[in-house]
Amino acid sequence: MYPEEDLLMISALQHLAFCERQCALIHLEQQWAENRFTVLGELLHENVHQSKSEKKADCIIARSVRLVSYNLGLTGQADVVEFHLCKSDAKGTAIPGRKGLWCPFPVEYKRGKPKKDNIDAVQLCAQAICLEEQLKLSIPEGAIFYGEKRRRTNICFDDNLREETKRLTEKLHRLISKGVTPKPEYEKRCKSCSLFDICNPKLNSVIKRKRYEEILFQEDD
Ligand code: SF4
Repeated sequence: MYPEEDLLMISALQHLAFCERQCALIHLEQQWAENRFTVLGELLHENVHQSKSEKKADCIIARSVRLVSYNLGLTGQADVVEFHLCKSDAKGTAIPGRKGLWCPFPVEYKRGKPKKDNIDAVQLCAQAICLEEQLKLSIPEGAIFYGEKRRRTNICFDDNLREETKRLTEKLHRLISKGVTPKPEYEKRCKSCSLFDICNPKLNSVIKRKRYEEILFQEDD
């Protein structure tokens, strides 16, 4: 169990999966910069959060739901949690003023289209684990809505995904508790990184090359 002061943001998992240095710059050094991708992502989330909660006969839609898991040591906010009226044999949660039990179904909104890696699913799984701990029930699946495709992808929170989420979360806690920002390495991903100017990964490559040349030169002497 993690104490309140050690809780980390669920969004940091995405940053960590993208680049450890980016994650440390944002979550250790509080550096942030916008680029086209972050602005588009924020606009999409703003639209989702500004919409009102909805109540239908068999579905209640809650927006901007606060999340916390002391087991994982994570906190954050879900874009949307749908509460579906449970079938008689399903376990759900009671909702004041509504009859029956309701099964939570988290939905995350993403700009773009499904990625090759699993990080969007990991982030959603972390949200589900938070909700499970808060509501004391199990959540078998959720969905990610991709803005470019305008389509939902259902995500099953199976054992493999839960294990992957746990592993990445532990890695995140190790990075933050170590308190050291990794050195930059210029790679293809840097081209889409919002922290490119702050990080300056090419400069580090130049310094490393110069240093290498200096060592070679010394050895020739
Ligand atoms: S510019 Fe590259 S090395 Fe630097 S934080 Fe971004 S992805 Fe990481």
